[in-house]
Amino acid sequence: MNKPKIVVLGAGYAGLTATRKLAQKLSPEEAEIVLINRHNYHYEATWLHEVAAGTINHNQARYMISDVVNPKRVRLIYDTVVEVKTEDQRVVLENSEVEYDYLVFALGFVTNTFGIKGMEDNAFFIQDIDSARVIREHIEYKFAQYSSGESTDDSDLTVLVGGGGFTGIEFVGELAEKIPELCKKYDIPRNKARIINVEAAPSILPVFEEDLVAYAKKSLEDRGVEFRIGAAISECTEEGFIVGEDNELIKAGTSVWTGGVMGSPVLEKSGFEVFRGKVNVDADLRLPGSENVFIIGDCSWTMDKETGKPYPPTGQLATQEGAHVAENIKNALYGLPLTDFVFDDKGTVASLGISDGIGNIFNGVKLQGKPAAAMKKVVDDRTLLVVGGPKALLKKGKYRPF
Ligand SMILES: Cc1cc2nc3c(=O)[nH]c(=O)nc-3n(C[C@H](O)[C@H](O)[C@H](O)COP(=O)(O)OP(=O)(O)OC[C@H]3O[C@@H](n4cnc5c(N)ncnc54)[C@H](O)[C@@H]3O)c2cc1C
Repeated sequence: MNKPKIVVLGAGYAGLTATRKLAQKLSPEEAEIVLINRHNYHYEATWLHEVAAGTINHNQARYMISDVVNPKRVRLIYDTVVEVKTEDQRVVLENSEVEYDYLVFALGFVTNTFGIKGMEDNAFFIQDIDSARVIREHIEYKFAQYSSGESTDDSDLTVLVGGGGFTGIEFVGELAEKIPELCKKYDIPRNKARIINVEAAPSILPVFEEDLVAYAKKSLEDRGVEFRIGAAISECTEEGFIVGEDNELIKAGTSVWTGGVMGSPVLEKSGFEVFRGKVNVDADLRLPGSENVFIIGDCSWTMDKETGKPYPPTGQLATQEGAHVAENIKNALYGLPLTDFVFDDKGTVASLGISDGIGNIFNGVKLQGKPAAAMKKVVDDRTLLVVGGPKALLKKGKYRPF
């Protein structure tokens, strides 16, 4: 009899965890495992704001998949997924096609501009290694042009960040470290370079309590970050953002949009029913009405039965879902019932640059300043260990003291 074939799409937190757990739980005689990813590396999506600001090198935020997954056990295919054809259990890739018995769909997030005019064409996005790298290079290019006299427009030294959520605030925190460095490198007075965060809502960082948000805002302002809170962006032009009711143009050399994400466009292309950019999955993480397709990580909404609301999409959630899917696929192969996913929330920590941060851990313990920054490094290292194993931690860990 043919072995069942399990195909995992995406080697992010969700897909890589699912693959490694499947390889641990199932012998080669029990199932064939295939992992498909666009690149031959996994990247730490939660570190991309550091890559974009240039406070870490992009190579620190990625590792080779073949270093943490045994290619003799798991067939690795580096290609782009175009579409899933559930009716004949087939995945269409740019360069080939693959059939499956079980499918784990874990293609992650893309930036959502909510249709804001000009955003797609004129703003940079933080969504993978290449897009983050381009931002770092662009900011530095603008400083170099100004320094050489090629540009005399002070607004070329402004970095404008749309969105005061997790990504936007962590990014301006890194910029508060990097911009003074660039000013020194290019002999530019620090007061000429601006970092401006624009947020339409009445507050930044909605996931944290008021006192932590106030701490974060003051800490960033003290280091030169300017906030435009309650200012909706109506358009992004080549020159910058148009904000507020009086259509003020805030000019910048670099405009970055971090205001929203949604699941992979492959979901819709495959005909899955999508709500606010993601699929509402069953409690056991399966696509509704499907026996053998699981959708996890940033591509799905998973309901918290206690609150009746979906869990916020995070790397932590994606990793736990990856492990749960592996267990459920094993159950399915053994003819056992599938179990419902329950999120074990270990807390949230946001960095505000290299040695500052805020956090809420272990159900209500609040952290700010250096302890939060240290905790963030612990979280980052733990993720390396859980998702990639000891090799990933040893090669890319942030355990060096700051
Ligand atoms: C700057 C930033 C900071 C963040 N900070 C935190 C944090 O502190 N804590 C936290 O918990 N969460 C954080 N998040 C959110 C977290 O990164 C996401 O929730 C998480 O990455 C989702 O994991 P995933 O496995 O679903 O998808 P991803 O990490 O997006 O992985 C998807 C994988 O699929 C691949 N892929 C995508 N499309 C295709 C295709 N068509 N074909 C082939 N391969 C494809 C990608 O290359 C990637 O390898 C942050 C996000 C950002 C951007």
